[in-house]
Amino acid sequence: MTARTHDLGAITALGLVVLLINLQSISLATAIISVFANLIGGIAPDIDQPTAPLWRNLPVGKYIGKIFDRLLGGHRFLTHSILGLIILGYLIHLLLVFLKPVLGSVNTGYVWWAFIIGMLSHLILDTLTKEGVPWFLPIPYKFGFPPLKKWRITTGKWVETWVVFPILLVINGFWYSEHYQKILFILHNRIL
Ligand SMILES: [Zn+2]
Repeated sequence: MTARTHDLGAITALGLVVLLINLQSISLATAIISVFANLIGGIAPDIDQPTAPLWRNLPVGKYIGKIFDRLLGGHRFLTHSILGLIILGYLIHLLLVFLKPVLGSVNTGYVWWAFIIGMLSHLILDTLTKEGVPWFLPIPYKFGFPPLKKWRITTGKWVETWVVFPILLVINGFWYSEHYQKILFILHNRIL
């Protein structure tokens, strides 16, 4: 899937979870940093791709991207698995512990979860594509849904643009209108 679809997928997943759980009060800073972490999590698995947006936007990114590509075993490998999720999740945890003194009152637990939700949404979306995802590495089999490869999506082609993307938009529209009162409540009483 393209980075644009992954951004929308990550935000959609975060919205679904936030409105399902009984969210305790959250500071505005925590909310903003969580959304940011969520979007990073949504594209993080593609650091194994030399053409990933992360690398494209850095001056020498193309070369660093190629090195990462080798280290991580090529595209759709370690960072596209549960093992990779655990490793990246642990590294983000360490980073948040390190940044805690500067983050002040920010709830780093929420930020961590937002990242994980973003990354999970990436793996789920990529599962719908022809290449599939090696969820259970070191078992090298790439799983996809639907099981028949020809029914799956080709990244960047019209089905992604005109079917997957609009479906995600509709899910958001439905979900937010369905939970309208809850959103108002969160905005009034939970965001400090
Ligand atoms: Zn990917």
